[in-house]
Amino acid sequence: MRTEILPLAAAKAILSLSTKYMMDTLRNQIIGYFERFIPIHYDPDLAKLKERWTAVFNTKPRYWPSRSEYFSLAVFFHELNVLHFLPWFLYLISEEGLVKILEIAPGDEEYAFRETEVMRKVTLGCKRLEDASRDDLYRTILSKHPECTDPKCNNDLRIYWLKNIEYTPTISLEPRAAFLELERGVPHVPAYWYEHWCQDPSDDRPAPLMRAPCVLCRTLWIRGERDRSRHIWDSLPWYFKIDVENR
Ligand SMILES: [Zn+2]
Repeated sequence: MRTEILPLAAAKAILSLSTKYMMDTLRNQIIGYFERFIPIHYDPDLAKLKERWTAVFNTKPRYWPSRSEYFSLAVFFHELNVLHFLPWFLYLISEEGLVKILEIAPGDEEYAFRETEVMRKVTLGCKRLEDASRDDLYRTILSKHPECTDPKCNNDLRIYWLKNIEYTPTISLEPRAAFLELERGVPHVPAYWYEHWCQDPSDDRPAPLMRAPCVLCRTLWIRGERDRSRHIWDSLPWYFKIDVENR
């Protein structure tokens, strides 16, 4: 089972049957197989992780799995008590933010999961995660390097990015993308990282560019954002209240 790729349905069936009939060796093997694709430890390259996942499990390889597929897998692993996979799925479901989760309505694919324990964990975890993440972002964007000599160094950008935090689900990829721009070392970066929240959606003009902070402050911000993303990952089980030790 080390090298071949199993269709998702087959892998799920093996996990279900080996759990039902208490075939521990087979169960551990198939859990090990899933562990090759489902991250349980921090990896800064989230996009690459998603690609790897998509390549293996997604029936529509050009797209990332839909949120209802994440829900369905989270419920599946939850029911089979493979809890250390849950943080990853709950994180993916939460990525668009609490507002989008609360807006799930009859007729939506995700509606079927409304009364599940997984939905309860997603809703509460997402709220905790957004609050903590917003705090971290505020701290980073308000920070200024002690040796920075320019009193106006990062003020313009700071005001725009702080405004953004109020309108963006802070755990989404958008804030991270904005900081990646800073890492590229460009002299100007977009003022909005999620412009449609702040502008008329029919207005497709690109976001205005703002002067990036000086090298010292830039380094400080990038480090702050890396810490935030690592903190999110390390604390996912806590945010979603899942005992990952329990296999
Ligand atoms: Zn500076």
